[in-house]
Amino acid sequence: MTNNKIYFIANWKMFGDLKSVNNLNKIVNLSKQKTFKNSEIVYCPPFTILSDFVKKLSNSKIYVGAQDCYSINGDGPHTGNISANQLKKIGARFVILGHSEKRLDGDTNKIINKKIKSALSENLNVILCVGETLKEKRRNLTTRVVNNQLKQCLNKNINFNKIIIAYEPVWSIGTGVIPNLKDIHKQIIKIKDFIKKKYKFKNIRVLYGGSVNLKNVIDLKKIGNLDGFLIGGASQNINKFIDIVKKTIN
Ligand code: PEP
Repeated sequence: MTNNKIYFIANWKMFGDLKSVNNLNKIVNLSKQKTFKNSEIVYCPPFTILSDFVKKLSNSKIYVGAQDCYSINGDGPHTGNISANQLKKIGARFVILGHSEKRLDGDTNKIINKKIKSALSENLNVILCVGETLKEKRRNLTTRVVNNQLKQCLNKNINFNKIIIAYEPVWSIGTGVIPNLKDIHKQIIKIKDFIKKKYKFKNIRVLYGGSVNLKNVIDLKKIGNLDGFLIGGASQNINKFIDIVKKTIN
């Protein structure tokens, strides 16, 4: 891991209800420990319990984020959507954008770019997911696909201090399979270099996401240039998630 702040983003996807809120005490206690000083946890539950998470975590060092926002900001006739402004108003500080499960629903790089601009206009922190499919990996297209996503989703004049990139190979999400460590390391370097060259921003934070669990985190934490993890399945169990955090930072 880097010597900078280590991020743990918990993506709960379409799981969780009000009862889940009661389980958060344990993680609040962890966040008060000295060893946690250099880390940041962001919980991204479904929209339905975002407010409850914000209330529960308001006196803690843990932030709350959403899993998406609409491409147009402000009120309007957009049935079924949630704006960046609405997220900000309820106290969310982060938003995951470009997740492969949303891309499957139809989010293109162009739409994701609009969503990013919308989120940034409300000063939300954006976790932008990028990554290749198995087919693309087999064709050696990883770098081309990822660079294209970065190029189309981002713009020169955005505030890169508010952007965190999550490198998530699509074939690794929810499958229990992860790339070898060298490949992750190389890809993280490529992403950091790309952002440095194209957008003249030197300190972009890059996370890894895809089947992070208690076992593989022992190896994953050895990757020197990594700024943290985006964790899906394993973050929904409070004990597993806490153990992953502890194993990484201790
Ligand atoms: C994710 O949802 O972004 C993710 C990485 O999921 P999982 O950890 O379950 O692979």
